[in-house]
Amino acid sequence: MLKIAWNELYCHSLPTGHRFPMIKYNLIPEQLIYEGTINDENLFSPILIQEQDILSSHTREYWEKLKNGTLSKREERNTGFPYSEELVMRERTIVQGSIDCSLFALQNRISINVAGGTHHAYSYKGEGFCLLNDIAIAANYLLNHTEIQKILVVDLDVHQGDGTAEIFNNDHRVFTFSMHGEKNFPLKKQKSDLDVPLKDHADDKEYLDLLDWNLKSVIQSFQPEFIFYQAGVDILKNDKLGRLDVSPVGCKERDRMVISTCHENNIPIMINMGGGYSHSIRDIVEAHANTFRLSQEIFF
Ligand SMILES: [Zn+2]
Repeated sequence: MLKIAWNELYCHSLPTGHRFPMIKYNLIPEQLIYEGTINDENLFSPILIQEQDILSSHTREYWEKLKNGTLSKREERNTGFPYSEELVMRERTIVQGSIDCSLFALQNRISINVAGGTHHAYSYKGEGFCLLNDIAIAANYLLNHTEIQKILVVDLDVHQGDGTAEIFNNDHRVFTFSMHGEKNFPLKKQKSDLDVPLKDHADDKEYLDLLDWNLKSVIQSFQPEFIFYQAGVDILKNDKLGRLDVSPVGCKERDRMVISTCHENNIPIMINMGGGYSHSIRDIVEAHANTFRLSQEIFF
């Protein structure tokens, strides 16, 4: 069964009117249940992650500042969020959701968190709506607590997975692959193991051809035992922050390519949502919902 992490905290803790569209975290499971793609049994509610698991990927200094609310004004501004204890609780719940999903994926081959993909969080700082890096923390959890020793991160959000690249810079057990808008945030990119920068207005064909070629070649050369997939939908043409011209059909085909590649190669996959900032909330929810629909269709 497809296990999906969701907790009511996912959708709370920002002042209304904040530009980060938290409402999608409620609308996505609502839509999926309404249409019958999932039911309540698919959902589980993660609890708060323990501090020791956070420290596998973040410095104690940064975590103490986050926990105690002692980020400088500038550090707080860089996170993109007004600081609150509830926001840190939300993030801790999401990150535990990604750990739990990784373990479910080892059992059931696939699992999804209805949040996460917080790839701009560095070991020592938060940035761009990301406080703790759920991909890094879950990957380190697998490396430290299971037999898994070779992990591939496929980051297809339109923004580079700079925090993840920084955290695993010197760790050869984790291969970071990021395909992103060349001119998008962050302006100063980190070095992933494989970066595929895209020109403005890259369309479906260009996008999917590049993904197909690079995904196959990295799986063949690295032979991963587990894949984390950051499935941000800010690659869509009508995204406010993206600069690409990928259509909703192209975005769905992207998901199909990654999910069916894992299925065919028998590689467990854990998916987290990543960004999505289209003008229409309906487009955002629909694009994210496709990721869940395809996961059900391909695996179950
Ligand atoms: Zn993004």
